[in-house]
Amino acid sequence: MSKTPISVAHGDGIGPEIMDATLQIILEAGAEIEIEKVAVGEQVYLSGNTAGIEADAWESIRRTKVFLKAPITTPQGGGYKSLNVTVRNALGLYANVRPCVAYHPFVDTKHPGMDIVIVRENEEDLYTGIEHRQTEQMVQSLKLISRPGSEKIIRYAFEYAQLYNRKKVTCFIKDNIMKMTDGLFHKVFDEVAKEYPDIENESWIVDIGAAKMADTPEAFDVIVLPNLYGDILSDVAAQIAGSVGLAGSCNIGQHAAMFEAIHGSAPRRAGQNMANPSGLLLGAVMMLVHIGQSKVAERVHNAWLRTIEDGIHTYDIYTEGVSKEKVGTKEFAQAVVARLGQKPQTLKTVTYKASDEGGVASHEMHLIESVRAIKVLVGVDVFLDWTGTSANELAEKLTNITVKGLELKIITNRGVKVWPEGMAETFNTDHWRCRFQTSNGHKVTHADLVELLGKFAEAGLDFVEIESLYNFDGVQGYTQSYGQ
Ligand code: NAD
Repeated sequence: MSKTPISVAHGDGIGPEIMDATLQIILEAGAEIEIEKVAVGEQVYLSGNTAGIEADAWESIRRTKVFLKAPITTPQGGGYKSLNVTVRNALGLYANVRPCVAYHPFVDTKHPGMDIVIVRENEEDLYTGIEHRQTEQMVQSLKLISRPGSEKIIRYAFEYAQLYNRKKVTCFIKDNIMKMTDGLFHKVFDEVAKEYPDIENESWIVDIGAAKMADTPEAFDVIVLPNLYGDILSDVAAQIAGSVGLAGSCNIGQHAAMFEAIHGSAPRRAGQNMANPSGLLLGAVMMLVHIGQSKVAERVHNAWLRTIEDGIHTYDIYTEGVSKEKVGTKEFAQAVVARLGQKPQTLKTVTYKASDEGGVASHEMHLIESVRAIKVLVGVDVFLDWTGTSANELAEKLTNITVKGLELKIITNRGVKVWPEGMAETFNTDHWRCRFQTSNGHKVTHADLVELLGKFAEAGLDFVEIESLYNFDGVQGYTQSYGQ
């Protein structure tokens, strides 16, 4: 078999130790890989590169398309960008997959039957980093959810469930509040779910869903979520399964993939031969399946399960009475190597089929073709930085600002209607949204909006943002305000 080139970053803190242990185990198990070492992380950041990754590392990763990465330390202080976010976004790694499994009775857990897979959307939502300070008092972060972005991750979750014989896919959203963004994610979930009639599907509002997952994780199988909820809940899931030190993860895109542990670089444990290499090792197991070496992946995974079962534990999972021997990173790796070829006796033996190879990413994904809707401009929301005392006073200032029937319909403050007929009790900031629409049937144009903004400027009003209001095939493409 020819060797598969992979890019490997040894990382910071405990990174080099757990990477050495991981590589030792998979090479002893017969992994046919050609390792290209790349430098990323703390030293690169501190040399003045704010992204933490140099051009030659990019070149290697883009060529091998497979990146095994130990945790890195992001230096404290402003200006340093998260390497993970940079790599995920640049390479289009849209799916973050984290299996969270309990190893009862060998690793202490409150949830012995837990075996869930979190599939987190990786590229959109509040993680696009588009933020602005708009007024003295107000800052804003943009939440972006697209139809293809949602469809790719939801389809990935169903394809994953199908490939690995999972029975159910659950979606977590907050569409009772974010009706358009989370509403779109939910709608696409329902559409895609129809194409997989053999897989059960359900949706939960994220707050009660998260509570249920933390209380009864056995009720879930595969969970698909937008980026922010996925970020938070995948850590919760890994922690309640037993330990963050045990979970591996992969970031998958159509052109490349990155494999890692979910924990950080644990600097306080660095250089002491204490860290648990299991998270990175399980990330490497996912990598072996991905590069078509599923039998090696199986050998490693089963030897690792046997080691855990034999009570050979690093300090983080060591429990008196359950564990047999407390070992360091190197000794743990040697114990796994000694068990290559063995299978667990109590825990379930893992089998990877040749058809798993390449994972879901290797399957062609056809997105639902959408017909472009007819989009009609019907008004505009103008956001102002204004420090006057009342909404009535602001409305008075705006009475003379009209263009071809476009006139002020409503003023809101933090989404709550304050004019007309606002309530005296509503708290006002210096950030006001003024909605202009026509009632005379005039077809609104962009030129009308420009003219309207000119009048704001003439009146000395500081507009900090505008949002055009559109209907799509006659359906309103914007929300109403509270109290409207
Ligand atoms: P951490 O995950 O490094 O550590 C949290 C706790 O878990 C610590 O008590 C640590 O000792 C323990 N722990 C973590 N991994 C362990 C292991 N393999 N074996 C034994 N114990 C383990 O989180 P943190 O302290 O918040 O972050 C430390 C640094 O890691 C920060 O610079 C952060 O930016 C970085 N980080 C990197 C990644 C990544 O590269 N993917 C992810 C998270 C955090």
